[in-house]
Amino acid sequence: MNGSAIFFYFAETLKSKNMNVFKFGGASVKSADAVRNLAKILNGYNENLVVVISAMGKTTDLLETLVKAYFNKDEQKRAIFGQFKNFHIEICDQLFNAAQTPAPVSKLINELEEKLDKTPSLDYDFEYDQIVPFGELVSTSIVSEYLNATGKQNQWIDVRNCIRTDDLHRDASIDWELTGELCKETFDFNENTLYLTQGFIGSTPANITTTLGREGSDFTAAIIGNVLDAESVSFWKDVPGVLSADPKKMEGTTKIDSLSYREAVEITHSGAKIIHSKTMRPLHNKGIPLYVKSFLSPDDPGTVIHEIDHKIQLPPIFIFRENLVLITLSAKDFSFISIEDIERVVHFLIENRVKVTLMQQSAIDLNLVLDAGEADWDWLMKELSPFYTIRYNTGLTLITIRHYTEETLDWIVKEKDIYLEQHSRLTARMLVKE
Ligand code: ASP
Ligand code: MG
Repeated sequence: MNGSAIFFYFAETLKSKNMNVFKFGGASVKSADAVRNLAKILNGYNENLVVVISAMGKTTDLLETLVKAYFNKDEQKRAIFGQFKNFHIEICDQLFNAAQTPAPVSKLINELEEKLDKTPSLDYDFEYDQIVPFGELVSTSIVSEYLNATGKQNQWIDVRNCIRTDDLHRDASIDWELTGELCKETFDFNENTLYLTQGFIGSTPANITTTLGREGSDFTAAIIGNVLDAESVSFWKDVPGVLSADPKKMEGTTKIDSLSYREAVEITHSGAKIIHSKTMRPLHNKGIPLYVKSFLSPDDPGTVIHEIDHKIQLPPIFIFRENLVLITLSAKDFSFISIEDIERVVHFLIENRVKVTLMQQSAIDLNLVLDAGEADWDWLMKELSPFYTIRYNTGLTLITIRHYTEETLDWIVKEKDIYLEQHSRLTARMLVKE
């Protein structure tokens, strides 16, 4: 080899291989038929691919009830575990010849059962992370075995060996450097073109399993895309792409063909469930386009999120965020809400990891809008009651209209009671009772 040939050789080996990332959510693997459909999509694809898969159907919700029962030493845990096991075994019965559950799948199910026999620690979030990941582990294991059995060669990867996090259970942060190194080592595409792995889960450097927050599989796909410099990331969904509103909530929705990263951040942050809000940053940082496509009509183009001028004409986009609680703090002596009050409350929220959906201040009130399912707001009110008079309203929905128009605002005002309102140049937010 002469000098330039050597240089060329090294440059080639240092460059990451061309590859793409696919992410399939719970709905795309909710049944044996759904798994067959996923296999059909992958069969049409022979390029280098990492496929990130969620737990099957509503398994994560079921496992959350299992954690509660286990943690409370409630014997219900056996029945809930039974549901988990039967659901997956039935899917295996339909997928595999002689209705045999593949050994790696049974092994995982047994591992979970053994865990349930142990006495729980006193740390709920830790226990959550030791149980809920079985949804993803079992689901990916079934899909991988099915693909192998039907002739689509693939490598199953335990993503906990690559996605490294801190030990903040249920909301772990990524160690990007280590994760990058480990992902490059694992997904090297030397002997495989297709890797199957789990979303949502990771592990600490001491190999303790962690999770990245509900719906975190999107984030996993974005992390892997980022560190491997993917050409694109695709989310396969049961909708044709990003829509102007949730079709379950409104009629006459339109599909948006192309969206800037910035718009995508705005709408996901407002609570659009279609994409996890942490997804956009790792993709934007590397300029990796994100495709949102339908697994029901895989040939349709879906939506692409990429670097385009965000001033393009977009229709009004509606985002509904439900089950919110409005907590209103007022100074006890009728004094104004000062910057010190805000500082005290914000400090308290940060310290206790309470996430706030929206905050607004008037002369004597400080309003906090929280997700009632996520935040322990009862406790929060108790803690803040020595300082403030507190009122609250539950069962509220935050409607965000991006690119609002007069008509869209009128429509909302006519239909609902408004508890709180915020307008900026492009975005209107209204907290309503439906
Ligand atoms: N299975 C997890 C959840 O339902 C993660 C995901 O689906 O993204 O939250
Ligand atoms: Mg899911």
